[in-house]
Amino acid sequence: MGIPMRRDRRLFSELATFEDAFPQLEDATVEYREEGEGATGTTARAAAADETLEGLIPCSNPACRAGGFEVDLLLHEMIQAGQAEREGVLACPGTERTTTLVTDETIALQEFSDRMEHDVEEYEAKTGKTYIYDGTLTERIKKGMPRSSGRCPNTLSYRIRLAYKTPPS
Ligand SMILES: [Zn+2]
Repeated sequence: MGIPMRRDRRLFSELATFEDAFPQLEDATVEYREEGEGATGTTARAAAADETLEGLIPCSNPACRAGGFEVDLLLHEMIQAGQAEREGVLACPGTERTTTLVTDETIALQEFSDRMEHDVEEYEAKTGKTYIYDGTLTERIKKGMPRSSGRCPNTLSYRIRLAYKTPPS
């Protein structure tokens, strides 16, 4: 899971209950399927009635920053429009941070590179010759393999059903 966006000013965050944020609604059901990094691609279901629905469905991309899917904003839009059902796709608004990704491959390459450097020094000492060692690979490895930085690629397909306390006029 990535680092979720700050939502201090949002309704129906940790600060507000569903009842407080949506007094017009009896229940809201969201079926959703996330696609992208770290996503399982399976369909999940959340409902206000059984307290599984959150205003922000977190993004599963571990490199995602300030992301997530703002279901509560969709609910507000639907109430404004008097809609009971809506389907669509949300793109995660998060960005991918550039981080050092330490993998087994990076570690193995680092060890190999260190050994190469050592071998070159040993060979120089043995032969009395100077070898130019190109440390490009080492430097790259030391910096780590950067993850792509840019927009988070994750998307959320959703189907929302709202049950109003009184039918929308
Ligand atoms: Zn994301």
